Parts: sequence; C-alpha cells; structure tokens
Amino acid sequence: MSNRITATAMQLAWDSETQSRKGYVRPRSDDPYHSYRWTRLSRRWRAEHPVCAECLKSGRYVAAEVVDHIVPWPVCGDFFDEKNLQSLCGPCNIAKGNRDKKLIQEWHRNNPQSK
Ligand SMILES: [Zn+2]
Repeated sequence: MSNRITATAMQLAWDSETQSRKGYVRPRSDDPYHSYRWTRLSRRWRAEHPVCAECLKSGRYVAAEVVDHIVPWPVCGDFFDEKNLQSLCGPCNIAKGNRDKKLIQEWHRNNPQSK
C-alpha cells in the first residue's frame, strides 16, 4: 500500500519535472541555455574538448571558453545535438556570433510563429 503511494508520488514528481522542462508548467523557463541538461552537457563537452576548434584549424592551441552551436540555435532545430557542438575561445565566439546573427534573423523571418 505505502509502496504504491510512493510510486504514484514519484510519477507525479517526474511528470511535473518533464512538463516544466517542456515549458508547459513554466513557459518562461523554456530557454534551453538555462536548463540543467545544457549545464551538464556543456560542462562535459568542455572537459572533453578544452581547445578552441576555430583556432585549432590554423594550428593554434587556445583554451576554449564556451560551447558553441555550429549551426546556431534555434536554426539547428535540436539544441542538444552533440554533432552540432564545438568549443570556442572568447574572440572566436564573438566573431562567429556576429556571423550567426544574420542566420538567426533570417530564421525568425521564416518562422514568424516563434518568438
Ligand atoms: Zn579561437
């Protein structure tokens, strides 16, 4: 009997967590950059890829500061797709961010229903 109640309570807790992750319960928390999943993923990614991917292309080993989406979010569609991630140093991230801006603006023009 008590086991059953516990199981139900756990299911409810899990459901509400799942819903809040999807943004149904707390729509303002749907920014994936502030999700626990991203914190965990980006931390692991940086540990595994500590060098800036852009600088590495020209043979320089520069410590990465951020995890970047190669195809920017939300254009890429899947925020957590690890095939779309790379580590970047500060300057490379800023340079790429400026290039990404155009892509993101265009995406919003083509997807007016999104905010
Ligand atoms: Zn760099």
